[in-house]
Amino acid sequence: MPLKESTLDPSKAVYDSVLESGCGYSKPLKQGQTLRIVDLEGNQAVDTLSYDSSDPTDRYSAEGTIREQGNIYLTTGTRLMSSEGNVLLTIVADTCGRHDTLGGACAAESNQVRYAIEKKYMHNCRDNFLLEIQHHLPTMSKRDLTANINFFMNVPVTPEGGLTFEDGISAPGRYVELRAERDVTVLISNCPQLNNPCNAYNPTPVRVLVWD
Ligand SMILES: [Zn+2]
Repeated sequence: MPLKESTLDPSKAVYDSVLESGCGYSKPLKQGQTLRIVDLEGNQAVDTLSYDSSDPTDRYSAEGTIREQGNIYLTTGTRLMSSEGNVLLTIVADTCGRHDTLGGACAAESNQVRYAIEKKYMHNCRDNFLLEIQHHLPTMSKRDLTANINFFMNVPVTPEGGLTFEDGISAPGRYVELRAERDVTVLISNCPQLNNPCNAYNPTPVRVLVWD
């Protein structure tokens, strides 16, 4: 887990805002800009997708990212690859140490299958993503919501290859920082999940900052 702190000064950020728990969000970034996501209270899951702004059909690829770095966990140095093999963003700082890109986003369907039939209508990340693309990325539809990143989420893989959802390894104030390697649009769902130990059954706000 290569931890790396940032040298960027929050007082010099060109954007600085709190994203309340359960809320969706999208942010266009210019090439060279840096985005920081801060886990304000710890153990929050921040479901994230990214797209090339000039061609949103070229989008984040979990399998391309895993293949290129030869590792299933994301941390400092990870290049977020696109479906066309381009680098969308690079993780340039990380004080949490490990992020997931296997667990996917929670959805009405997964709430129902994983937890209980009456959980189907609970607020979930996929609905957040759907609302965000309707409002801010109208050329895209639900078919453009592919496998995502879960920043701060702990989904260890067992030696046998099993996928487990565990209590988080993040803590209040830990952050991850990404540099845009081209003009990208980042889509975030600050996970509203109430049935999963990853966020201790308690969704909390995150802070989002951008530097030029
Ligand atoms: Zn979620």
